[in-house]
Amino acid sequence: MDRINVPELFGSLVFNDKEMKARLSDDVYASLKKTIDENVRLDEKVADAVAEEMKNWALENGATHFTHWFQPLTGVTAEKHDSFITPTSDNEVIMEFSGKELIKGEPDASSFPSGGLRATFEARGYTAWDPTSYAFIKDHTLCIPTAFCSYSGEALDKKTPLLRSMQAINRQTLRILRLFGNDTVKYVRTSVGPEQEYFLVDKEVFNKRPDLIYTGRTLFGAMPPKGQEMDDHYFGVIKPRVREFMEDLNQELWKLGILAKTEHNEVAPAQHELAPIYSTTNVATDANQLTMEIMKKVASRHGMECLLHEKPFAGVNGSGKHNNWSISTDTGVNLLSPGKTPYENAQFLLFLCAVIQAVDDYQDLLRLSVATAGNDHRLGANEAPPAIISVFLGAELSAILEAIKEDKPYKGTEEVKMKLGVHSLPRFSRDTTDRNRTSPFAFTGNKFEFRSLGSSNSIACSNIMLNAAVAESLRQYADELEKSENFENDLHELIKRVITEHQRILFDGNGYGEEWVKEATEVRGLSNLRTTADAMPHLLDEKNKKMLKQHKIFTDAELESRCEIMLDNYVKTVNIEGLTMVDMVRKNYLPAIERYLFRLAETTSYMRQVSDKVKCNYEVTTMERLSELTDYIMNAVIELEEALSELKTISDIFKASEYVRDTLLPRMDHVRKHVDEAEMLTSQRDWPFPSYGQLLFSVK
Ligand code: ADP
Ligand code: MG
Repeated sequence: MDRINVPELFGSLVFNDKEMKARLSDDVYASLKKTIDENVRLDEKVADAVAEEMKNWALENGATHFTHWFQPLTGVTAEKHDSFITPTSDNEVIMEFSGKELIKGEPDASSFPSGGLRATFEARGYTAWDPTSYAFIKDHTLCIPTAFCSYSGEALDKKTPLLRSMQAINRQTLRILRLFGNDTVKYVRTSVGPEQEYFLVDKEVFNKRPDLIYTGRTLFGAMPPKGQEMDDHYFGVIKPRVREFMEDLNQELWKLGILAKTEHNEVAPAQHELAPIYSTTNVATDANQLTMEIMKKVASRHGMECLLHEKPFAGVNGSGKHNNWSISTDTGVNLLSPGKTPYENAQFLLFLCAVIQAVDDYQDLLRLSVATAGNDHRLGANEAPPAIISVFLGAELSAILEAIKEDKPYKGTEEVKMKLGVHSLPRFSRDTTDRNRTSPFAFTGNKFEFRSLGSSNSIACSNIMLNAAVAESLRQYADELEKSENFENDLHELIKRVITEHQRILFDGNGYGEEWVKEATEVRGLSNLRTTADAMPHLLDEKNKKMLKQHKIFTDAELESRCEIMLDNYVKTVNIEGLTMVDMVRKNYLPAIERYLFRLAETTSYMRQVSDKVKCNYEVTTMERLSELTDYIMNAVIELEEALSELKTISDIFKASEYVRDTLLPRMDHVRKHVDEAEMLTSQRDWPFPSYGQLLFSVK
């Protein structure tokens, strides 16, 4: 490949700070910068000036259209393209773009899920520019990152509440920092680095599997002789075809200013991971949406299909997304990093406590923020991370908290009695903290890693809940400490109290084990919400609604609509899977087994004509079992069909989701079990679809 100049390539399709500075007048630039950094409203003249330069830049870079790029509740991104052309009186066109068009768009909102938020008479919604996430060019179109709302102002997307949650945590964090005497920090931001897992399979093989095409996962398939048991894929040598894909992908992402950094093979065959360098949460969210889209596009260019489903193959590791999260100030201080002075350490411990308490108080919100039909196959099953949310701190930090709680000396490098504001904490190295890979929520040195996200999830939902819950802990602390007359003392007592009260959420052991489920639920009283149907209704629990409303992140109507949309999505997803199963069984599997049975029967009868000594044991026993299986399969499919029709009659979405969990999914498992057994007994020549082995080892 030609040598590429990465610094030159990087951000070449982004209207970033460098472009703005170079193109905008000093006044306009300063005013826009204030909007970006401090959330100050943009005035219309400035918007016009920005729009003009943005358009010129876009035209120079080959764009013909513009779009307000947004993230409706479908989980994917949406765009409606308008060209820049404006007719002139002499039948020519000029390329125009106004500040108004930049700031606000009016897509027809009626085809996006709104969960009853938007009556048909106000089908219009509007998109509003998010100037904190840079505009970029994709497919000759200038894409302007926007938020999407109904005409009455209710959020119809994932970005609006995300931005609100960032403001909430900013507000509360500033209150805390002021208490520590910090008057210089102007704002704080949360940052995220999402590590993205995915599978690559050959396109030709993919195209032969209707289940992959319609549902993104295999609904059938017996285990191949070789799976992931050899552990030979993790960090293994990357195959040439995958390497070429990764190089191409990196370049596409770099052009869009996405900081693609690490790439490696994952545990399962055909599984890989990409991690970017972390950035501000809303920017990271936009970037992750783009990354997923571009992964699919680039894979296709290389004759492959990129699978982002959480569990494309039963019995093989699923794909997740690790949400590395931290809070930092505009002065460059990471508040989750232990400081150098005892005072900084006390502040660090308070933020640590805020996260611990947040995760404990809002386990259900974190769990439901990652709940989808696809992710249930990981979280509810015996796979990391478990559905039970707990926090891993590592031995060193746990020992420090224990010492504070018990007023006992901490045996670190030297034995000290931990008195906040007096003693220094040791620096935590990553090595001592990041040992446990089974924890859903782990402290990794200077950030928390939330590992429960599914590979196809938008990271917005998790970060909304995380920001909100931490903002709430901080609000409580600020309310209490602002009244304090002896700050140091009260701070110490508060930290001690929080550690004691939220001890139960801390767990450093093996999150897979059956013992943990028992201990977590029976002894500690933690929640174990195994499926979307179990988790999602908690969005409407009074305590959760109260908190999310108090921090102005959601309204009642928005919460109700979201709950409905997410459950509806769960029901529809599984429904499509069920229908696909029926289709594959009736049209392909049963006829295929039938064909093979016929061949066996034919062979047997021929052989017996030739000699009466042949027993045809193989043929006969195989026939007997296969024939039995076809009956089982048929019955199981009829039961599945009945469940699918029954589902149609259930109009209450909560009941429908329970029906899916309790009846539809078990019936699907039933069908699958018999088909998979039949696969092992049927000649490969007669089997209608590529096997697991052929899929998982399809990319050479
Ligand atoms: P891993 O061993 O899990 O791959 P890395 O240190 O490589 O760990 O980081 C994983 C992700 O965490 C990367 O996306 C990285 O940019 C991100 N990350 C690192 N530091 C921070 C931080 N302070 N805040 C948020 N994310 C961070
Ligand atoms: Mg990680």
